[in-house]
Amino acid sequence: MASRVIPVQPFDLVIFGGTGDLARRKILPALFRRYCAGQMGAEARVIGAARADMDDAGYRDFARAAITEFSADSAYAHTHLDDFLARLGYVTLDAGGDEGWGALKKTLGEGERIRAFYFSVGPSLFGDLAARIETHGLAGADARVVVEKPFGRDLASARALNSALARHFDETQIYRIDHYLGKETVQNLMAIRFGNMLFEPLWNSQYVDHIQITVAESGGVGARGEYYDKSGAMRDMVQNHIMQLLCLTAMEPPAKYDPHAVRDEKLKVIRALGPIEPADVVRGQYEGSESLPSYQSEVGSDETDTESFVALKARIGNWRWAGTPFYLRTGKRLRARASEIAVVFKDAPHSIFGADAGRHRNILTIRLQPNEGIEMGVTIKEPGPGGMRLVDVPLDMTFSEALGPDAADVPDAYERLIMDVIRGDQTLFMRGDEVEAAWEWTDPIIEAWEASGTAPCTYAPGSAGPDDALALMHRDGRRWREIRT
Ligand code: NAP
Repeated sequence: MASRVIPVQPFDLVIFGGTGDLARRKILPALFRRYCAGQMGAEARVIGAARADMDDAGYRDFARAAITEFSADSAYAHTHLDDFLARLGYVTLDAGGDEGWGALKKTLGEGERIRAFYFSVGPSLFGDLAARIETHGLAGADARVVVEKPFGRDLASARALNSALARHFDETQIYRIDHYLGKETVQNLMAIRFGNMLFEPLWNSQYVDHIQITVAESGGVGARGEYYDKSGAMRDMVQNHIMQLLCLTAMEPPAKYDPHAVRDEKLKVIRALGPIEPADVVRGQYEGSESLPSYQSEVGSDETDTESFVALKARIGNWRWAGTPFYLRTGKRLRARASEIAVVFKDAPHSIFGADAGRHRNILTIRLQPNEGIEMGVTIKEPGPGGMRLVDVPLDMTFSEALGPDAADVPDAYERLIMDVIRGDQTLFMRGDEVEAAWEWTDPIIEAWEASGTAPCTYAPGSAGPDDALALMHRDGRRWREIRT
């Protein structure tokens, strides 16, 4: 099944922070792949901007090395590389001063092309960049700005960032990236829910016992230790990625697939989340082992009580979900790198097969990684003679198998999201009020931890997290799904 590539309009994309880690590992390789796929045309231009003294040729060398390292798959012949690099330029510029802005204006010229500004720099520079883009007359009403996470570290800082951007740009011009929303499976969640008659009638507390969302990583904090220790799992994963998955799972059907309708429904879910009782949340921090360092030694402090794991039970106070808990967990150095949403349906009201047939449940699993796909657990008769014995088997649809070789080649999240920016489609980007509402829900949880002064529970590397997290579900008569690849 060949995927259709619709070329985008000619554009100029300025990457502020064009020499940084994100540009090197994600943005430049993503653009290259879209160029090879024919979606980014030869008229497009990409301009790196940072303080480092470099010329166009130097930036092309930088991009060549980045693409060779991070887009090394065979799908795209590197014969396109020189062509792509010819679209790149560089301007030396300081976000906090006026040096370089005249040169950027000259490079951009006066054309009618789509103009996008990617703020791939720390959030403390967002306000400066937005102001200078306006002062130097670089942005028309159609210009777009792309901003990265973290979008604030609490409600107050998120509000400050929103208003710094709002002074110079309309909300319709602001694209807040959460790369989880660019994942194929996440969008498929909407397709499954709203494109099929089968699921939606069952998608409520009458039929769904509970929902589990797991984002597990097997690696530790590694080189990100210093940054991570200031944030922790709640700010780094729950407030953004996991809440976005929760919203897409729980939201009402929007009237249409458009940015306003989808984001309105997501916002309603966040606003319907009840406060979290201290007993319904567990924080953890990984220990070390003979071969692996502990969290504390990785961040270089034996006093830090930042959490590398969170599990919590959330409740959505609306007609659809009252009585169906959502169990959320995320952590580092767990048993495997595995992310999924599992919708666990209730037991059939009566078993005609008797008690010996055991308890069987339908579970719809939406796998985000690895092997993006969908699995439906159904109960069937165990084959062979020997009476009516039941067994649960998966109806498994791994996208790369079900959709043929082209599915292995689906654009990654950054490719899709950057092309959406150029197309002017904000559906998969977080709106300012959504981000603020998410902080409004998570802030009291973090504040309660800080006020209690209690240290996180420890857990063994390669485990499923602290015992208290297992107990969180056991006491409700439920259990977490196994973390496995
Ligand atoms: P980074 O490696 O530290 O790069 C920062 C970039 O900003 C460099 O190009 C730097 O170049 C430039 N810069 C710094 N100060 C500047 C100034 N005053 N004026 C102009 N340019 C300036 O950071 P990063 O990892 O690429 O991250 C960028 C942003 O994305 C951050 O907000 C980060 O939290 C977010 N993010 C990163 C990742 C990731 O995987 N790396 C993932 C998600 C989100 P000069 O020093 O030469 O100016």
